[in-house]
Amino acid sequence: MDIVLLGAPGAGKGTQAKALAAELGLLHISTGELFREAARLGTPLGQQAQAYMLRGELVPDDLTIALLREQLGQPAAARGVLLDGFPRTLAQAEALDALLAAHGRRVDRAVFLDVPRDVLLARLSGRWFCSGCETSYHSLFRPPTQPGICDRCGQPLYQRPDDRPETAARRLDVYLERTAPLLDYYQRAGVLVRINGDQPVE
Ligand code: AMP
Repeated sequence: MDIVLLGAPGAGKGTQAKALAAELGLLHISTGELFREAARLGTPLGQQAQAYMLRGELVPDDLTIALLREQLGQPAAARGVLLDGFPRTLAQAEALDALLAAHGRRVDRAVFLDVPRDVLLARLSGRWFCSGCETSYHSLFRPPTQPGICDRCGQPLYQRPDDRPETAARRLDVYLERTAPLLDYYQRAGVLVRINGDQPVE
């Protein structure tokens, strides 16, 4: 099975992707996490990507599609992938179809996590992530047992610079403009599933 998770920033894609990938035995691929990791390591890709990420803009399609192509080429991707944060543009969706088709595969489901904008902004403003395993927390809705420390792996938590209010608002606008049209794309392909994302994680 190859699954795409769609939704605005803060909709819960990362949280659900981690749980679903484990449950279904799929490879979880988050382009955002890969870009952040590359930025931390200071690779050329990371430096290029960071400039866009800090402004809340999308990383250009050519860089992003090349990254995804590399990820899909891993042996672990052969059993199926759960894509979180990709595709975000029509060009990326078309590239994904072509990459999967080359292996006789297709997007089997596009799961849209539907969350109202006011809830998204509230979620983004209190988010914390583990620097080790990227598990997400929220200072109000899902606090860690020990402040600043990951319950799962004990590593320190950090806040994403692009969750700051101005950048978060820009990311939501970019989502509406560039990514929301993909709902139609997957609806037409007959694979769209809409889930109310304003519910408890489980
Ligand atoms: P995320 O962790 O999915 O919220 O992604 C964080 C940031 O990484 C985004 O705001 C973009 O700047 C960049 N990014 C992640 N995935 C993509 C993508 N598929 N296309 C373009 N930019 C992306």
